[in-house]
Amino acid sequence: MGWSMVKIAFLLHLFFCFSLCVSRASQGFEHASGVRTLTHEIPNHHEVHCSRERSRVAWQIIEEYLMPFVDEEEYQLPNKCRLHPDNDMFREQEQHKVHVDTNEWRCGFCKKSFRAEKFLDQHFDNRHYVLLNNTHGRCLADLCGALHCDQKSELKKTKKCNPAAVARNRHLCEGLADNCFPVSQGNKASRLHELFHRQFCDAHTCNGRQKPFSRGGKKQSSVFYLAICVLTLMLLPVFYLLVFLHQREMKKGIQDLKRISKAGRKTKPS
Ligand SMILES: [Zn+2]
Repeated sequence: MGWSMVKIAFLLHLFFCFSLCVSRASQGFEHASGVRTLTHEIPNHHEVHCSRERSRVAWQIIEEYLMPFVDEEEYQLPNKCRLHPDNDMFREQEQHKVHVDTNEWRCGFCKKSFRAEKFLDQHFDNRHYVLLNNTHGRCLADLCGALHCDQKSELKKTKKCNPAAVARNRHLCEGLADNCFPVSQGNKASRLHELFHRQFCDAHTCNGRQKPFSRGGKKQSSVFYLAICVLTLMLLPVFYLLVFLHQREMKKGIQDLKRISKAGRKTKPS
């Protein structure tokens, strides 16, 4: 009775871990892939002075390190707040990206397919540029200094600290905190104002002691999940073996075990 329960628990546990691992691993694989192809649309220059890539990094930072707390407080970002989704000129396009398969990205507006995300980006720039309206400072990339985009993307790790740049970013950061979470708006806004400072603004110093995103974020990296999965899968059999041995010992008693070990010693080659 006890042993069959252990078996069922073991199988369930194994299945759960395995499915989790597979889903995590495939996610990581999809993100890592990006096959190049020569067939792409001819660039059509509609000058937009805002980096799509950096805007995407800024958006990821907001999604990961700010929105979980905003959602938890059930707080509505004011429209004038530059972190509001409506103030990201690429948001509508990004929401119309359909990642069909590893090598297939589809445009949600006209259903055209592309072999890599960057070609879909080019397609958006060429065919759907009307949506890119930057009239009211809707470029999230401009906030990258305040939001520590470089820290996140780990592309530019500058050792030297520039006090003027740090002061500028801190000022930008504090401006965001004041506009998005006005203290006069009540307790929720005050708490988030405080959090925004801890999470983003406090790290704008040259002393190097404060790290950005000190309050943590939503998602763990897939590498971390994979490591946990592998470890769990490796340790599970050991755990169940121990449970099994313990149960057997309880059932048969120490006397039986002694007899078995004596018999084992006799058969050993000398
Ligand atoms: Zn399209």
